Amino acid sequence: MLFERRGYPLFTFWGVEVSASMWYGILMGFVIVLWPALGAMTVIDGVIIALAITVSLLAHEYGHAAVAKKYNLSPSIVLHAFGGFCITGREARSDADDFRVVIAGPAVGLALAALVGLVFIFAPGVVAASPVTSTLFGALLWINLVWSLVNLLLPVWPLDGGRLFNLFMRRFQPERKAGEWTLKASIFTVIPVGILGFIQFQSLLVALFAVFVLMDNMQALKMGRPLVQRKSGRSKNKASSFHEELLAEAEKAMSEEDWQEAARLGHHMRSVGSMPSKMLDRVWMIIGLATMEKGDYEEALSFLKRAPQKSKIKRAIQRCEEALEEE
Ligand SMILES: [Zn+2]
Repeated sequence: MLFERRGYPLFTFWGVEVSASMWYGILMGFVIVLWPALGAMTVIDGVIIALAITVSLLAHEYGHAAVAKKYNLSPSIVLHAFGGFCITGREARSDADDFRVVIAGPAVGLALAALVGLVFIFAPGVVAASPVTSTLFGALLWINLVWSLVNLLLPVWPLDGGRLFNLFMRRFQPERKAGEWTLKASIFTVIPVGILGFIQFQSLLVALFAVFVLMDNMQALKMGRPLVQRKSGRSKNKASSFHEELLAEAEKAMSEEDWQEAARLGHHMRSVGSMPSKMLDRVWMIIGLATMEKGDYEEALSFLKRAPQKSKIKRAIQRCEEALEEE
């Protein structure tokens, strides 16, 4: 999947697991290695810009995550070449909650841009202190400003603008129809953006982004499922047969003590859409226990703590903590 919703785990901070997709690695390679090699910038500038991109993406995604945590969702972050994803495990309870989760990302980005802007205005000496600081502050200002505005203003799915557009359409249309309108608006927007980016600004990144969005949106349109499916009080969020198949495979891997495979399947289940909370509980248990058996105790703890606190899980948490103390 082009917009892979999982990646290689990097660290867990403030209870939020952060991982990086392959595409994020490729972008970093462009900025740190390829552009300096082509003479577009120095290696030092490349490293500073890579740092500014990463800090800005993390600030944006942690904005989403902070509000998601407030609504008892279990957010995790995946860094991608085209921004990042804040995965909430299951859907927010209402459109109003969802709106606050979505808006929080660009809001943090704009706040960071404003903060850096203040440094430019009131402490220009700090910015001009060295080539390093001027590159760093310049990059932080532009990345946060541009990325927040792109996210707010472009109705492109799965960016924040597309999510906001979907929430807006849901006020007038049923879930499925609103999703269809959102995807069509997204496709209609991203084609000129891609062409303009490539021809006018020779930006391969923008062109690639447009192609990714186009393929992702076309596929979603073909599947015809609503983009956001709320769990209503009466009808429980039904598990897809795909989820059930994956869960059966994960259980089998657990019973065969193939921890690597069990953890992989668990992460995969979380990446392919929301599932009923009971099933999600089971997935956290599988990922937590399998990760513990692999010996990644610190990572295992972050998963086990999201699982229902049955005695088996409590024992596993204790085992991880003991193993970490011994280290
Ligand atoms: Zn966002």
